[in-house]
Formats: sequence, C-alpha cells, structure tokens
Amino acid sequence: MIAEILCIGTELLMGQVLNTNAQFLSRRLSALGISQYHQTVVGDNAQRLEAAYRFALSRSDVVITSGGLGPTVDDITKRVAAKVAGKELVLFPEAEAMIRARFAQYHKDMPVNNMSQAMFTPDSTLLLNAHGTAPGAIVPMGEGKAVIHLPGPPIELEPMFINQVEPWLRERSGQVLVSRYIRIFGMGESEVDQRLSDLENGGNPTLSPYCSLGEVMLRATAGAATREEAEALLPPLLEEVQRRLGSVIYAIEEDDSGSLAKSAVEAMKARGWTVATAESLTGGLISATLVDVPGASSVVRGGFVTYQTDTKTVLLGVPAETIEEHNVVSAEVAVGMAKGARERLGVDIAVSATGLAGPDGGTPERPVGTVYLGISTAQGTYPIRLQLTGSRARIRTLAVKHAVNALRLEALGETGGQTC
Ligand code: ATP
Repeated sequence: MIAEILCIGTELLMGQVLNTNAQFLSRRLSALGISQYHQTVVGDNAQRLEAAYRFALSRSDVVITSGGLGPTVDDITKRVAAKVAGKELVLFPEAEAMIRARFAQYHKDMPVNNMSQAMFTPDSTLLLNAHGTAPGAIVPMGEGKAVIHLPGPPIELEPMFINQVEPWLRERSGQVLVSRYIRIFGMGESEVDQRLSDLENGGNPTLSPYCSLGEVMLRATAGAATREEAEALLPPLLEEVQRRLGSVIYAIEEDDSGSLAKSAVEAMKARGWTVATAESLTGGLISATLVDVPGASSVVRGGFVTYQTDTKTVLLGVPAETIEEHNVVSAEVAVGMAKGARERLGVDIAVSATGLAGPDGGTPERPVGTVYLGISTAQGTYPIRLQLTGSRARIRTLAVKHAVNALRLEALGETGGQTC
C-alpha cells in the first residue's frame, strides 16, 4: 500500500502554521510500514486542490488530507474530493447529531452553515471527532483507492488517526509490524552508520537511523502475518546491534519515549545511589533534566547553581587559588565543584559542569564550546573535557546530555574518565 499526505491550507504555504500534521502522519505511517513517496501542501484554491488530488491518486492508493473541513467557504477539501470522485455530497444524520451534540456541550446553538460539516459522498465511512466539530471520513475514490479526510487541528487529527484510521490501514496493509527503538548517545551518526551499514540494507527486519541533537535513534521493524512471528524476528538483529555498539546504546524500547535522563536515573536507582549537581554554564538544567523523570525523588538529592566565579568557592568550597591558577573553565575547577557537591550533600555521586557557552569570551586556548564536567564518587573524582560547537543554546543542551550520560555510564560501571 502506498500512502500520500496532502495538507490543505494557505496558512501552511505562508509559513504561519508549522506543518506538524505532516510530521505526525509520516511517523505513524512509517511505523505501520506503509510507504510514502510524495507529500503535498496546497492552498485553499479549488482548481489547484483538484489537480493535487488527481496527481496524488494517480500514484498512491490512499491520500490522507489534513485541514479544510470547517464550515466556511474556503473549507473546500470534501467538496473538491467529491468532484474528483464524480459524486454529490449528502447529509449524514449521524454526523449532524454529533455536531449538534458538540455545540450543546458548549451551550450553543449550531449555526446553519455547520450543516456542511455533516455532508459526505454517500459511500463514505464517517470518522467521529471527539475533540471538535468537524467529522472526518474515509471516501472511496474507485479502483480500490481512497481519500481519508482529517481535521486540521492536531488535537483533533491525532486521536482520530490513531483510533479510527490506523485500524483501517492495518487491516488493509496485510501484515503486522513490530518495532523497537534503539537510542544512542556518544557516537555520531556516520560512525553508527559505518558499523551497521550491512544491517541497514533492507530485508526484514529493517533498521533505519534517525538523528536529533547529539543523539542517534535506530528503528528496527519486523513485519509478519502475526505479532508473534514479527516479534520473533527482532532479537537476533537487536543482539547484533548491541554487540557492535555496546554502551553507547542507552535504551531499547517499544516506543520512542526513552530519554537519557530516564536511563541515567534508572541506572543510579538500581545501584541505590543518590546524586547531586554543581552547575555553572548549565544553570540548573542538569538538575531539571533529572527531575523531569518520574520517580527521580529517590535519586536526586539536590544541587548548586554556581554561576558567578566566587559562588564556586562560597557554595562548593573550590579554593579561590585553584580558580586563579587554572581558570574557572578548567578540569581542576570541574573536579573541585563535583567533589564539593558530593561532600556537602553527602551523596554517592555528583556531577559538575563549567564551560564557555558563548557567544563571547572564547580564546585560542579555550574557544567557545569548551566545557569541563566533573564526576565524583567515593572512588575518586575525574574530569571530562568536551569541545562542543554551535549556538549558546546548543552548547548548553549538549553539555547537559553529556553530563547525564556520564552519570549513566558511571552507575553502570562503564567509565573512568574520558575525553570527548
Ligand atoms: P476547523 O473545523 O477547526 O476549522 P479544519 O479541518 O477546517 O478544522 P483548518 O481550518 O484547515 O482545519 O485548520 C485549523 C487549524 O488547525 C489551523 O489554524 C492550524 O492551527 C491547525 N492546522 C491546520 N493544518 C495543520 C497542519 N498541517 N499542521 C499543524 N497544524 C495545522
């Protein structure tokens, strides 16, 4: 089955609205294993929309539309699709009842023009809208093809797609797909690719890489007639990926909700550890990132935000002479900060971060992006030097990720000082 997304709305062409529906639908389709070769955005213009429908239907089996289901004259999505199908729109009493009920819920009378939202071609299958007034529909277009109309607001489109369209697509795509998400930190995309390229070349299961700031994600997907058969295809591939990449893999999960912080908190919890933070350039973000994880309270004891130089002495006990001698952005200061935080809060592990987020203040010896982390445990304290690049926000975010990852690795017993 080949699907195509057709997003309708002049606001998308003008850049007033970011096309998040296309991203959402693409991700869901690829998780279902349904191919997509083209996407289109078209304004609220009947002639151009008609051409877009005809073109999309000439090359795809299912065309999924987003937007233009409202009651106003520029909401042309259904009308133009009906013209392409060569059919008239008729009133669906069930849709009318749903829209009236929605208005009653808002304590309002339904304006007459909202009746247009209850009209579809006669052979359409209605998609009820639990969050708005516009019902969607699955509209047969002949030759086994279909157009699926979804409302524009993501809060309406997303549950409608997940609950009503995905079962319909799954039934027709003829196979069950099962995925695992492999999350990686500490190895760049090209190196991951180099190590796994022979596993990425098609076949079943498939392995596809995806990147976000400092991280690489791989999706392993197996397809088979039943879930059990699909599940059985995954372990050999996952074991091989794990063998080749090792501890840079921080999570393998059934959905893509994993995070470095979750893995770090889980690893520290498994050791029965408590943690403290001592932060300069990250200004509390390491602490906030750990606290984002539900259940972090049994692990995170507290932290220090020591931004100006003298606060590293006042709050953490880093000797002023150490700062004077080595510079505030130095391995020695990072070590002093981590040690001070661990001792003052009586925790099992502490992490510190001091660095230059820029944009100003860089020198040839310490360019913008120079960051030192410190990791302190009862076994000792060591620094990690990072040389990061990009904007201030990027440098700070990456520093947080490296710090959280260092906690994870230390809790797993897999580090002992490293240079990045
Ligand atoms: P409504 O009945 O609410 O008007 P509709 O189906 O007619 O629904 P549109 O009028 O096209 O939808 O869009 C309504 C709003 O939905 C837009 O103003 C925008 O905020 C959001 N929206 C529309 N299309 C997209 C998209 N592709 N990605 C993200 N948001 C979108």
